[in-house]
Amino acid sequence: MCPQKQIARDELLLKMRDLENTGLDCRDCQAPCCTFHYNSMRITEAEGQDLVKYLISINADLKEIKNKCRAVIDEYRLDKDFFMKPDARLRRHYTCPFFNNRELGCTIPAEHKPLGCLAFNPTDADKKGQTCKSLSYTDNSEGPKLEIPRVVLAVLEKVLGIL
Ligand code: SF4
Ligand code: SF4
Repeated sequence: MCPQKQIARDELLLKMRDLENTGLDCRDCQAPCCTFHYNSMRITEAEGQDLVKYLISINADLKEIKNKCRAVIDEYRLDKDFFMKPDARLRRHYTCPFFNNRELGCTIPAEHKPLGCLAFNPTDADKKGQTCKSLSYTDNSEGPKLEIPRVVLAVLEKVLGIL
């Protein structure tokens, strides 16, 4: 991971710890931010590569993850591009393939989660999942962003072609 990204991650982790100390954590929430209800997270290819490096480091079943990504892409038709304007691709909602459908259900640890995911936090302990928003952070990412399963699938196809 590049040094700027690591700095942004460390800053976000510190801010999250401060929030947690005031009761603003993700416990007791069904995480609509990871499902098609709210989730439209997009990442760069470099972020997808970081995620896949992490998955390889834990000996995850890459073929199974590839199949999950493909299933999510098909279910939400993420490979069909819709445009509001010629240069503005419509953001798409989908349930993340790394979400296991329970409280605190993201299977990617904070040290490896996409920064956009890490930045999204509750603002009101009594309204978790209703008033959450992104903390500000320096986004040094370069290149286009697409939905997590599209990017991860593309990286996995390259990696599995090599392995
Ligand atoms: S990577 Fe984790 S936090 Fe981000 S959308 Fe997927 S399940 Fe949610
Ligand atoms: S960020 Fe908000 S919606 Fe997502 S799990 Fe945490 S409290 Fe729930």
